[in-house]
Amino acid sequence: MPRHGVSPGQGRPRSDGEQASDRSSGAPCLRLLWLGLALALALPNSLVLWSPAEAHPLPAQGHSAKFIRIAPQLQEAFGWWNLTCPTCKGLFTAIDFGLRNQASVAWVGSVAIKLCMLLKIAPPAVCQSAVHLFEDDMVEVWTRSVLSPSEACGLLLGSSCGHWDIFSSWNISLPAVPKPPPQPPKPPAPGSPVSRVLFLTDLHWDHDYLEGTDPNCENPLCCRRDSGPPPASQPGAGYWGEYSKCDLPLRTLESLLSGLGPAGPFDMVYWTGDIPAHNVWQQSRQDQLRALTTVTALVKKFLGPVRVYPAVGNHESTPVNGFPPPFIKGNQSSHWLYEAMAEAWEPWLPAEALRTLRIGGFYALSPRPGLRLISLNMNFCSRENFWLLINSTDPAGQLQWLVGELQAAEDRGDKVHIIGHIPPGHCLKSWSWNYYRIVERYENTLAGQFFGHTHVDEFEVFYDEETLSRPLSVAFLAPSATTYIGLNPGYRVYQIDGNYSGSSHVVLDHETYILNLTEANEPGATPHWHLLYRARETYGLPNALPTAWHDLVYRMWRDTQLFQTFWFLYHKGHPPSEPCGTPCRLATLCAQLSARSDSPALCRHLVPDASLPNVQSLWSRPLLC
Ligand SMILES: [Zn+2]
Ligand SMILES: [Zn+2]
Repeated sequence: MPRHGVSPGQGRPRSDGEQASDRSSGAPCLRLLWLGLALALALPNSLVLWSPAEAHPLPAQGHSAKFIRIAPQLQEAFGWWNLTCPTCKGLFTAIDFGLRNQASVAWVGSVAIKLCMLLKIAPPAVCQSAVHLFEDDMVEVWTRSVLSPSEACGLLLGSSCGHWDIFSSWNISLPAVPKPPPQPPKPPAPGSPVSRVLFLTDLHWDHDYLEGTDPNCENPLCCRRDSGPPPASQPGAGYWGEYSKCDLPLRTLESLLSGLGPAGPFDMVYWTGDIPAHNVWQQSRQDQLRALTTVTALVKKFLGPVRVYPAVGNHESTPVNGFPPPFIKGNQSSHWLYEAMAEAWEPWLPAEALRTLRIGGFYALSPRPGLRLISLNMNFCSRENFWLLINSTDPAGQLQWLVGELQAAEDRGDKVHIIGHIPPGHCLKSWSWNYYRIVERYENTLAGQFFGHTHVDEFEVFYDEETLSRPLSVAFLAPSATTYIGLNPGYRVYQIDGNYSGSSHVVLDHETYILNLTEANEPGATPHWHLLYRARETYGLPNALPTAWHDLVYRMWRDTQLFQTFWFLYHKGHPPSEPCGTPCRLATLCAQLSARSDSPALCRHLVPDASLPNVQSLWSRPLLC
């Protein structure tokens, strides 16, 4: 696919189409893999149950609307069968039963492998491994969702026979307590204490990284043991990392952590997940746990007594993005992962946080007086989490729990920070809109939001829902530690209104540090992590409050030079060689205004109304793999 520019998927402009597994243009296109599995599931029954048109692994609500729109045709088509409700349910019960046996799973898998190869989704070996990794969970999900008697017969024969509610919209309830009048934070008095918070995200350690191997191999992840040597005229993977579809060797993470001195000292650390590499087609639970424990041990070794507060990324699990909500019990549940996390992170988290971490991968704690930290498991909002096909309504009750936490903080007069992996503007529509509503209701309490996942340096501004014009919060999306794809390694430090009575706990500024790979990989060089930029100084911001970020977007729209600076920093000092033309610039800036998914109206001040459909089409361009 085009290496950079506007891309696709969930309506975000982003480089390299990182949607399936972050910046995974080269990663096995999971969307298409889902299509293969979905087709394989649909074909044996000759049912008109296809995967959504864009081969989306997890259709957005828009797709449920599509299903609903085609329902009358389906009902008509099935009408001549004279299919009665009990027969329909009997038929789907039989399909369900038939699909669950081992021979059927193997058969579905073999069809999916053939489709994967036929459609050239990935090299044959990757097709085979990936399908075997996903087939059990996928069959389970499809039989419990799309092919379940109630869902399928509800779609085919109408609501009197069953209920088709996959991806229907839902609302969490807010307490009856009236919203206090908005009160923007006051700037701290000169000389007030300032906290430094180290922010690590998307470390993506590749255990099999090997210097000198082919950085442009045919597999979705390169620079590794099985990548082979590069062509004679091409250089091999660098010692510290590579500007390609490669992750990081452990020594680069060690270098990052050991070189933190000049950026510190730190009061605490936020660490928002994605620890393992992007070799998603061949990861075992054992591999994921090794990454979790190895990297956690490394972080502990270098940060010593500083408290680290982690959040769960989409790559922690295997299959990638597979995070069953707590109603899935037994071996297919996430018990193996959350239990290991609770054990590894036990020194940093209090008992109550460990309790909810074990259940749903999220928690809350009070790192200091007056501040509540909430770590969300954003996989429960994810379009890629195929388990949500079974039920996507507030998975694990996480948003309702969040409301309870925010109300309690408001009652106490505390401020709240939220950390998470996938940013809210990338979530399933209902989740995203509910979250947006919560942010607006608790705007006085919510002092900071911090995410990762896109691997690039960006942000998302939140507005009041009534006018969509008053900026009231901002989510910071920090760049990754990994180079994936074509980036310098890096990390972020937030300066926050400090630890004193009456602190606003808001972000005052942020700094981004990188390792310049070109320099580091020179023969005889030693790695030198340096400050890339300070946000307020570089962008001329009066402060780091939501309005300043809102204004910056509009300034960048008018000032191409300023946008070029942003584009350079967005890629951690290693922008793509292709320039970002007007459509790319528009879509990139629009993304900074879109903390809520499927809301083109948020960009209406950026572009004339007449152009909105075009912006939308930029957003919804299907992922090319
Ligand atoms: Zn990542
Ligand atoms: Zn991610």
